[in-house]
Amino acid sequence: MSTATPQQFDIVIAGGGMAGSTLAVALLQANPALKLAIIEQQAEQISSTSFDSRSIALAAASVELLAKWGLWAELAGKACAIKHIQVSDRGHFGKTQLSAAEYQQQALGYVLEVEPFGAVLSGKLAQYKQLQRFAPNTISGITTTQQHQHLTLNDGTTLQTRLLVIAEGGLSPSRALAGFTVQERRYQQYAVIANLALAQGHQHTAFERFTEHGPIALLPLNAQRYSLVYTVEEAAVNRIMQLDDAAFVEHIQQAFGYRAGIFTAVGRRACYPLSLRVSGDIVRHRTALLGNSLHNVHPIAGQGFNLALRDIAELVRQLSAAPEDIGGYAMLRAYQQARQQDINTVTTATDALVRIFSNRSRLMALARNGGLLAMTLCDELKRPLAEQAMGLRS
Ligand SMILES: Cc1cc2nc3c(=O)[nH]c(=O)nc-3n(C[C@H](O)[C@H](O)[C@H](O)COP(=O)(O)OP(=O)(O)OC[C@H]3O[C@@H](n4cnc5c(N)ncnc54)[C@H](O)[C@@H]3O)c2cc1C
Repeated sequence: MSTATPQQFDIVIAGGGMAGSTLAVALLQANPALKLAIIEQQAEQISSTSFDSRSIALAAASVELLAKWGLWAELAGKACAIKHIQVSDRGHFGKTQLSAAEYQQQALGYVLEVEPFGAVLSGKLAQYKQLQRFAPNTISGITTTQQHQHLTLNDGTTLQTRLLVIAEGGLSPSRALAGFTVQERRYQQYAVIANLALAQGHQHTAFERFTEHGPIALLPLNAQRYSLVYTVEEAAVNRIMQLDDAAFVEHIQQAFGYRAGIFTAVGRRACYPLSLRVSGDIVRHRTALLGNSLHNVHPIAGQGFNLALRDIAELVRQLSAAPEDIGGYAMLRAYQQARQQDINTVTTATDALVRIFSNRSRLMALARNGGLLAMTLCDELKRPLAEQAMGLRS
């Protein structure tokens, strides 16, 4: 262990991915005097683990938060508006169609590719000289005192902070080091993602379609492309990933049908094992969890990062309300109380939706037709759909 004097910080963020980096921007925007550090295991300025080839659907409220933190002005031109959502069940006649115009809105939400999002965040963070980045680094030891968390990094560097925020994603090792326990449910499913080129325009329509191979979501992207999220059973994932590009495009076309037009090409594919991981506690002494480290949900309803943005907004609000009490008991307790209900609702509803989508019965098909992405983007639809999914409505 190093005997050098530890470097002092107000807040240390473990994990510089989507949630950790956005938190840093939001915190420094609210209080530029904060002394902040990010510890990131990846050496690159933009973590390729978090900012990979996926795209995310953002609800209107999330866009408002990104605007408040000075990020949306740069992101707006890179995002694609969702103006219509179509939910359908292959083999059944029913379909649900929603349009922004019905809600007197410009858009039901936006789709953002996370790679350019990473570049915008990184550029913003580079402007703050008091932000220190430790990378490639991980936390190897945590010692707690009344006023501080003392962190030892893998290279022996020592840091002292009033608040440690853990945003290391779903498999966070520091979360266990800090004493949190996690509940996990493995779904035995994978999400296969890729961008698809189209023979025609997409008219800003997002699709969610249940097929016999698994649910397929298509999110509209700029330049006449769709972002595909294809949920497949564990047993099928290797076969699907090993298809050559032409065979993969053909497979998706056959599985999805022609509602979204003709797919002409596919970009780089990636796949993710899917599970639900939720921490029992949101905070412990001078430590808070955030983003996937707190709630790692199935991407079926596109909720994960939207939920993380609400965590960030609340943490920033609590820190701004009590700047003298950074990491104190009252501040952390208020963060926990404010976030608990939203996290419970979203994790329970998303888990229920996964089970509905994994079920082939006709009754479940009806529930599916209520819409998933629709639930994320239209608040009015959220409660009835969630209640139906949880069996609280018939
Ligand atoms: C296929 C797919 C589609 C999705 N679609 C949507 C969507 O449409 N809408 C939506 O809202 N959400 C969506 N999500 C969820 C969204 O991607 C996550 O909510 C988001 O990535 C969470 O960010 P995070 O920073 O918490 O975690 P991560 O993105 O996992 O980032 C964690 C960071 O911590 C770093 N790290 C890990 N361990 C350590 C360590 N020990 N020390 C230091 N650093 C460490 C990693 O390198 C990484 O940079 C989707 C997810 C998937 C998989």
